[in-house]
Amino acid sequence: MNNKLLIKYGDLYLKGKNKKHFINSLNKNIKNALSDFQIKLNTGFDKCVIKFENKNDKDKMINILKYIPGISFIIPCKIIERDFEILKKDILNDLNDKGTFKIETNRKDKNYDLDSYSLNKELGKWIIENKKDYIVDVHNPDFIINVEINKNDFIYYTNKVKGISGLPIGLNGRALVLLSGGIDSPVAGYLLQRKGISVDYITFITPPHTSEESLNKVKSLVKKITLDGKINNSSLYIINFTKIMNEISHIKLESYKIILMRRAFFRIASKLSKIIHSDFLATGDSLGQVASQTIESMNCTSSSISEPIVFRPLITFSKDEIISIAKFIGTYEISILPYEDSCSMFVPKNPITKPKIEKVIELEKELDYLDALIEVAIKEVIRI
Ligand code: ATP
Ligand code: MG
Repeated sequence: MNNKLLIKYGDLYLKGKNKKHFINSLNKNIKNALSDFQIKLNTGFDKCVIKFENKNDKDKMINILKYIPGISFIIPCKIIERDFEILKKDILNDLNDKGTFKIETNRKDKNYDLDSYSLNKELGKWIIENKKDYIVDVHNPDFIINVEINKNDFIYYTNKVKGISGLPIGLNGRALVLLSGGIDSPVAGYLLQRKGISVDYITFITPPHTSEESLNKVKSLVKKITLDGKINNSSLYIINFTKIMNEISHIKLESYKIILMRRAFFRIASKLSKIIHSDFLATGDSLGQVASQTIESMNCTSSSISEPIVFRPLITFSKDEIISIAKFIGTYEISILPYEDSCSMFVPKNPITKPKIEKVIELEKELDYLDALIEVAIKEVIRI
């Protein structure tokens, strides 16, 4: 098909002003993401059309559009004059997927003289009369020829690429995601991004215990989720956590180490969120996955801060579900690279699964320098 991509909007259940906001945000995001290409964007109420100059750009653009939140389908199509004779000739010219076929017509303009059933029938008849090797099969066709009858034109296409749906970024506020080098937190970031949220990331490193490679891994994860910034203009905040970790290592009850560490993560993230105006924090926690992800542990972690609110998008997901999303977005291969992250490195032999908040507070009181070290860590944050 020729040089047009029809874009169908995703979860467009929004009404009134919000719908307008959806369309405007999506257009802006598409233009940003495709800024390396020569395109013209034509916006309609339930779809938009991208016209491009260079045929070779088509697949590259589809590979980006496939990950832009707010798009349900990307459809290489032809848009022609609303003339049935032209439609017949053009379709005949364009057909090359031999085999059984079916025609599906969507008569958007109800005033058009042929109804969809008649158009399907006439067009199908015309094709089998003029092309050998083409057989109609309405139940199990090899391919479908879709025709849209609009007020001013016909649109036709034979295949469509599924997008990720969701809502355009910019529609739903800003998140600060605690990003480790693991499998889960990048998926949490991606799911929030798909809901129209602008996502920034914060990661805690403990050099020299964690290597440059493990930080590079986190940077690659952000690049992957945002398609190199094309999808989301995310910042990554890097916090040197080594001194805080050393301080926490002084506690008497080793089994509480990870809880205290998590609480310090939250306190730092909370303070940073105020500075960079994030609306909420998010983690890759999934209920019961490890000791620090029981209800009791998460309660102890969340209660270290009073604001902002903390979301855990993966809380009910199984590991299989998380892995399959990680594979789909391409973060899985990066996440499984064998570089230690700060957390896994300091996990005690027997981490507590039901920590008591009174105990946590008592232990923290013994750490004289914790507050000061947290302040310093924030002052020394590095932003990428
Ligand atoms: P992940 O795969 O996201 O690392 P996980 O199953 O390994 O998760 P934990 O290591 O217990 O679980 O971490 C739980 C959550 O805490 C992570 O999903 C992430 O949001 C946050 N987190 C853990 N380590 C770090 C880190 N070094 N920097 C930033 N956030 C972290
Ligand atoms: Mg981890």
